[in-house]
Amino acid sequence: ATAQIGVTGLAVMGRNLARNLARNGFTVAVHNRSEARTRDLVDGFGDEGSFVPAYSAEDFVASLERPRRLVVMVKAGGPTDAVIEEFAPLLEEGDVIVDGGNAHFLDTRRREAELRERGIHFVGAGVSGGEEGALNGPSIMPGGSAESYRSLAPMLERIAARAPDGTACVSHVGPDGAGHFVKMVHNGIEYADMQLIAEAYQLLRSVAGYSPERIAETFRSWNTGRLDSYLIEITAEVLAHRDGATGEPFVDVVQDRAEQKGTGRWTVQTALDLGVPVPGIAEAVFARSLSGGAELREASRALPGPVPAPLGEEEAARFADRVEQALYASKLVSYTQGFLQIAAGSAEYGWDVDPGAVAALWRAGCIIRAAFLDRVRDAYAARPDLPSLLSDDAFAEEMGRAQEDWRHVVATAAAQGVPTPGFSAALAYYDALRAERLPAALVQGQRDYFGAHTYRRADREGVFHTLWAGDRSEERVDG
Ligand code: NDP
Repeated sequence: ATAQIGVTGLAVMGRNLARNLARNGFTVAVHNRSEARTRDLVDGFGDEGSFVPAYSAEDFVASLERPRRLVVMVKAGGPTDAVIEEFAPLLEEGDVIVDGGNAHFLDTRRREAELRERGIHFVGAGVSGGEEGALNGPSIMPGGSAESYRSLAPMLERIAARAPDGTACVSHVGPDGAGHFVKMVHNGIEYADMQLIAEAYQLLRSVAGYSPERIAETFRSWNTGRLDSYLIEITAEVLAHRDGATGEPFVDVVQDRAEQKGTGRWTVQTALDLGVPVPGIAEAVFARSLSGGAELREASRALPGPVPAPLGEEEAARFADRVEQALYASKLVSYTQGFLQIAAGSAEYGWDVDPGAVAALWRAGCIIRAAFLDRVRDAYAARPDLPSLLSDDAFAEEMGRAQEDWRHVVATAAAQGVPTPGFSAALAYYDALRAERLPAALVQGQRDYFGAHTYRRADREGVFHTLWAGDRSEERVDG
């Protein structure tokens, strides 16, 4: 046995992760179901470091030092189970299987429990950053036992992305499914961020009357401030790009139907199960689905509504500043929701996830990497019991400064007929949180009326029901 770690599944992610490990000085056993990928890796990149190719599961396992550490990087779902079933019987107590794929956290919980019974550590690790990240430094979100993390940490810390302060973007998130849960919410927040940026673009285009190039410039300038992030940076690149064939702005020649692979949907489904409102993420998922409904959109095109009338130059510049405020405020709201979902998952499954540490993990390597996350980390570090990000004094103050512009943008969008589900839902959430009274009291009355579902009073203890069909007297129904 000569390899310190092994990677099985050598499509783009596994190959790049194996190369990253080898480039960092580790001896890496490599294996893939079909032999060609293993051969291609060794032929193409063998000189980057020390690889031990294996063409059977037995040889692969035999090449690993004990305790064996093997990373599975195959298609999520059935294929991951198949690979685990292939390797687990060849392993011994104390060995560690890492699943770096995009598994659903409930699958990870199941697999971890089954393998724990067999004395094998199972680490469900969220890996973000795409193929480029896998090669040059991803953000890694490992779940599983603390013992397995200790055994992996020296390697993971070497291959992970580094935050601007030099710390590696990897830390033990929590037991069993915690890592994949946090990765799932990362992707949900990514959907929300992308939708909000897209809405900002649409407003600058339709209301400010800016060209894609001008909007690219606007985003570039925003990227030097508090919105500094990978997604804003690449948005500017995409907007500045012109189609080679037609010379038109790229964004004008692409079909306006957004696709999805499902992690945003998982985030929302899980949030519904946990009873945590994540409207920012949900609206982003719905907006993609709505964009894809070509027939419905075609059939609805003649519906009446305003046609946006672009503003004059000076007003447009002022409006663009307001959009920056609205984008920042809405982004802060969607991160607030994402972190509350992580807190709810952590409470439900007993994970004890540290939200500040999660923010720290996302500072580099992953798609939502942003300067802003330093501040999120600091907010939780200063007050670990922070009820939500919006309760942080500095963030609350920024919301105070942003809110007038934010309201103006949402009102303008409604008046001009520009759909901004992300901005609007974020503002509604913000106002619901700050409301003295919500109309939920009326909803309770309706529920009691048609279903005798009972209600609680604001002025005294107890559970009550009004005899709506009778004399409308009230009875106390508890004890
Ligand atoms: P794919 O998801 O396309 O999976 C292809 C790999 O899975 C190949 O190595 C393939 O082997 C193997 N495989 C499929 N079915 C089986 C099976 N039944 N038994 C054994 N091996 C099987 O590869 P990616 O590199 O794109 O992604 C790997 C994992 O990483 C996935 O879970 C993905 O969701 C996740 N991920 C991907 C990211 C990305 O940007 N692509 C980002 C972050 C995570 P063979 O060559 O023999 O067909």
